[in-house]
Amino acid sequence: MKAVTWQGRRDVRVEEVPDPRIEEPTDAVVRITSTGLCGSDLHLYEVLTAFMTPGDILGHEPMGIVEEVGAGVPDLSAGDRVVVPFQIACGGCWMCLNALPTQCETTQVTGEGMGAALFGYTRLYGAVPGGQAEYLRVPQAQFGPIKVPEGPPDDRFVYLSDVLPTAWQAVAYADVPPGGTLAVLGLGPIGDMACRIARVRGAERVFGVDLVPERLRRAKARGVETYDLRDYADEKELVAAIRDETDGRGPDAVVDAVGTEAHGSAAARLAQQAASLLPRKLGAPFAERFSVDRLAALYTAIDLVRRGGTLSLVGVYGGMADPLPMLTMFDKQLQIRMGQANVRRWSDEILPYLTDEDPLGVDDFATHRLPLDEAPRAYEMFQHKSDGAVKVLMTP
Ligand code: NAD
Ligand code: ZN
Ligand code: ZN
Repeated sequence: MKAVTWQGRRDVRVEEVPDPRIEEPTDAVVRITSTGLCGSDLHLYEVLTAFMTPGDILGHEPMGIVEEVGAGVPDLSAGDRVVVPFQIACGGCWMCLNALPTQCETTQVTGEGMGAALFGYTRLYGAVPGGQAEYLRVPQAQFGPIKVPEGPPDDRFVYLSDVLPTAWQAVAYADVPPGGTLAVLGLGPIGDMACRIARVRGAERVFGVDLVPERLRRAKARGVETYDLRDYADEKELVAAIRDETDGRGPDAVVDAVGTEAHGSAAARLAQQAASLLPRKLGAPFAERFSVDRLAALYTAIDLVRRGGTLSLVGVYGGMADPLPMLTMFDKQLQIRMGQANVRRWSDEILPYLTDEDPLGVDDFATHRLPLDEAPRAYEMFQHKSDGAVKVLMTP
């Protein structure tokens, strides 16, 4: 089959690889019909190279048709239409039963000291072959795949794999009080969807920050009060402008949907580049001990949120030696919640929103749909945010 493989820094290629097959009774094999490209894939593309191996199959936002199931998967059969969550979880361990499938004790990557295995996401997360491919082997298929109805196009459901539960969890963790205010930093697919969900779920005002004009326009068209980072001399000015709109206090909660590749962190950018250019043998131990994130967005979030407010970090961070302003965080009495999204924790709550009325605007959420063969161009375009690319889906 054809699959998108990681080959090196900023180098992905579509290659012929062996077809996946059932290896465990709890496996399924799914023929992929749509597969998303995510901000998290961009981290692998350029920053987390120390944890990748040439030939790794990328992708964690797939849906398709079940081709074959093992004997331990009673609720799925060939022909079912399913969305595959980005994390692999068993559904029966203590963590899964406590609504934390990202920490599944059956699939935890204990050798690396990490949580549940993820599709297509570095050896830290199990180096499991991903879903930007014609076929995908789905381990723990007795729990993961979400059955969806026939009829509507894939666009209606594909975001259940990641974007929707991730944005949903970001908003749930932000815990905006009734009539309260929320700021969302970063208006990529995750931040954009978090704004939509916050509006649908009753946040009184949503402020959105980014520096890419079409991303700001998209959010504004849906009632978000947008702020273009480039209009402000520095972070302090931006924070002051939003504070002015919230009785001088700052919003009740801030979602950081930017993560480790934030614009405006020049020194950390250099450190990340240096680490990603080291030979892999040196790069990985270095990254495991000394890596730092580009923290511009997180610093803004800490400054911006009102005293006693909540930070919901959904953008991925990976630093092991990040300097944080603990004095401010402690003094402001912040609550901070973060992590990978627990997909099955939220998917049943989200499904009722995926209707013909389309309150979250999923049907035209993707800006680009390309054949899988054009994955190298898709990655480049999404990284450079060129050609108006916000969300890219690929068709195998
Ligand atoms: P993206 O890269 O398209 O979005 C990031 C956005 O942040 C961009 O629009 C960029 O212009 C903007 N930005 C950069 N620096 C900024 C700054 N200083 N202030 C404000 N905005 C800034 O990616 P995405 O797909 O929307 O993903 C966003 C983040 O969420 C990534 O870190 C991704 O890894 C993470 N993510 C997390 C989970 C999870 O389960 N927690 C799941 C999916 C994605
Ligand atoms: Zn993703
Ligand atoms: Zn489990």
